[in-house]
Amino acid sequence: TTQVRLAAYPDGEPQDSDFETVTVDLPELQDGQVLLRSIYLSLDPYMRGRMSQAKSYAAHLELGDVVLGGTVCEVVESRAENRKPGDIVLAFIGWQTHAVVDARQMKRLDPTAPPFDAAPISTALGVLGMPGFTAYAGLLEIGKPAEGETVVVAAAAGPVGSAVGQVARLKGARAVGIAGGEEKVRLLREHFGFDVALDHRSPTFVDDLKAATPDGVDVYFENVAGPVGEAVLRRMNTYGRVPVCGLVANYNRPAESSFGFPAFMGAVLAKSLTVRGFIQDEFVPTHTEAFTREMGQWVANGDVAYLEDVVDGLENAVDAFRGLLTGRNVGKLLVKVGDD
Ligand code: NDP
Repeated sequence: TTQVRLAAYPDGEPQDSDFETVTVDLPELQDGQVLLRSIYLSLDPYMRGRMSQAKSYAAHLELGDVVLGGTVCEVVESRAENRKPGDIVLAFIGWQTHAVVDARQMKRLDPTAPPFDAAPISTALGVLGMPGFTAYAGLLEIGKPAEGETVVVAAAAGPVGSAVGQVARLKGARAVGIAGGEEKVRLLREHFGFDVALDHRSPTFVDDLKAATPDGVDVYFENVAGPVGEAVLRRMNTYGRVPVCGLVANYNRPAESSFGFPAFMGAVLAKSLTVRGFIQDEFVPTHTEAFTREMGQWVANGDVAYLEDVVDGLENAVDAFRGLLTGRNVGKLLVKVGDD
């Protein structure tokens, strides 16, 4: 197998020298294990947190560890009863081409049955996987958008944000999407059907946001923090809800703030805001069934569109990952590791 391992903890933006690529032999297959070949590797913003020794909700990588990540794989060899060669599975083998894994550490994906008969298996890492689930559960459980309300989300061309906007609209809310650059703004309108799309890099962004939210903001699904988050927080209505999903503006560098803690707490109090962070795992037991059914139908009948940004080859993963944190990706970022 060829593996990408963490060689150093990045300081700021990850550099090539923070990683090393090695080729090693795999152990022999034991009973209950399968040999997997990776087809798609998911690149996600949370990985940056695992490359840091700062305290977090999950353990960080040790130097020399294979970089972690969700993968769609094919079973090549099996010594487990319930897996056979050719099976497609969702596994978590990270940044490597092959791995020997306990058969219980994966979930079979059936390309002939819903939802994957209507969408490619790669979507198990995007709209029909963890990012789509994050959007669905966080928005419905915490955001609770009501008909006619205004929902705002940034990183809106990514897999979480694009699903947030579309599910909000399916619930009768008005969706305002924020993304970086003209191409993404056009996609928000034309591909994802946002009611309004804004470019956070535009010098008129704050005024544009004001104009786009004449009745204020009822739900701000927080993906990014930074100046964008602060501008939206200033527009919140009384009893507004803020599911805090991610803070990607801060992942490479310490946060800067013009808002400040006193002003933030003042707004939470004066506007009776509900600000609730979440890690999607907490909703897995309660929301997986509804998500699989409902999102599966929406994707199959075209109510929820998705977009994938597929980078070819594991050797390009580091550069693609850098781009994820600066907005170079357009849609769900995947690395094509092997043939499908
Ligand atoms: P995306 O594919 O949307 O990638 C991140 C995007 O963030 C970039 O493409 C960029 O888009 C945008 N961005 C980066 N820096 C800034 C900035 N300074 N200001 C505004 N936007 C910025 O990622 P995902 O959809 O996978 O993830 C979205 C968020 O959800 C992340 O914060 C992630 O950590 C979080 N998340 C949280 C989970 C949880 O359980 N809580 C689970 C999964 C994801 P643009 O060009 O538009 O600026």
